[in-house]
Amino acid sequence: MLTVDEALERVLTAVRPPLAERVSLEQAFGRVLAETLRSPRDVPPWANSAMDGFAVVAADTAQAPVRLRVLETIGAGSVPTQTVTSGTASRIMTGAPVPPGADAVVMVEHTDNGAEVVEVRATARPGQHVRPRGDDVRLDQVVLEAGRTLDPAAVGLCSALGIPSVMVAQRPRVAILSTGDEVVEVGWPLAPGQIYSSNTLSLMGLVREAGAEAVHCGIAPDDPEGLRAALQRCLRAELVLTTGGVSVGDFDYVKDVFDDVGAALDFWKVAMKPGKPLAFGALVGVPVFGLPGNPVSCMVNFLQFVRPVLRSMLGDPRPYLPTVDVRLTAPIRKHPGRALLARLTLAPGPDGLPLATPTSSQSSGVLMSMVHGDALSLLAEDAETARAGDVVRAQVLRWGWMNGAEPGYGW
Ligand code: AMP
Ligand code: MG
Repeated sequence: MLTVDEALERVLTAVRPPLAERVSLEQAFGRVLAETLRSPRDVPPWANSAMDGFAVVAADTAQAPVRLRVLETIGAGSVPTQTVTSGTASRIMTGAPVPPGADAVVMVEHTDNGAEVVEVRATARPGQHVRPRGDDVRLDQVVLEAGRTLDPAAVGLCSALGIPSVMVAQRPRVAILSTGDEVVEVGWPLAPGQIYSSNTLSLMGLVREAGAEAVHCGIAPDDPEGLRAALQRCLRAELVLTTGGVSVGDFDYVKDVFDDVGAALDFWKVAMKPGKPLAFGALVGVPVFGLPGNPVSCMVNFLQFVRPVLRSMLGDPRPYLPTVDVRLTAPIRKHPGRALLARLTLAPGPDGLPLATPTSSQSSGVLMSMVHGDALSLLAEDAETARAGDVVRAQVLRWGWMNGAEPGYGW
């Protein structure tokens, strides 16, 4: 059996450097930046006022209150025409360029807001309420590194810099093929002995969450002809996922079919629970993962092995799920020899550590355990049973449990 780390190391050999494409900023949310961006300008491009008030020579206000002659009004979007000298001031609005000669802005609340002559009632220190040129970003400064996932702040920054489009990693197309004579597409009537496919849709969601494009390739029957035809549909993808039939004996057809088309597929037993069987290889140069059919094993295997490959293909330098320490409220029974990724429901804890309760069923067929599982325990191969109160490491799948339910500071 392979350890999880050994299996991960092997699947990561399937990663090819990402191809890039240029997209407009509106299309850039959630994409992974494929270039390191330097600023083409200073932001702000000139010193501007952080307040509505009066641009002054700070030294003039040392003996406040003081009366100053008002030269002009500078609104945001206009350009000052006068130089402020000792004894004068210009009325200025937030975001307007600070006029030459002025080195501070006094808030309008600290003046009488006089039209011709203004009384300044507070002392201003040099630089007060002035946002200097380049305060946010300086020309040529590196602002975003390649591999950064573009979120609203990052996309907003690009637009502030006047960069209208960016190079991002192309989304790999991921073909998803379920297998099994008993498996039926949702929406069709069920004959006796049949079940609906959950893996197809779970995997589509996981693929999209990973930042890739999911291609639904239907359900292949458990026969060589049907399987061969179904695999053809997958070949235009950059990565192929099949589910089902990787446990002993069951996958023979699939193995034959892969052999027929010249694909090299290894069948591994990975020392983990859930999700022991995993097939991995390449089909005419396209990486293929044969995931288990059990819905939980299928999702957990995807998260441990496929997701890191996809994130790496996108150029994400941190392709793994976030992990945190959690405190168990109940024991997790475990036998040494296999890593245990138990589904845990999380809740905020009294000491800052989340409280983790194992879901009621840990069976690899119980999809409800993934619905309620906010995290997966990372109990290593050699770990023993964990007791209530123990602190263990966990991979976080969702963060909704952190939401405060109360208004006020618990928003
Ligand atoms: P297999 O790996 O093909 O032996 O399947 C293991 C278990 O997972 C069986 O109970 C299958 O019925 C079930 N299964 C296989 N494929 C799917 C699927 N696409 N959706 C839901 N369950 C599945
Ligand atoms: Mg099957």
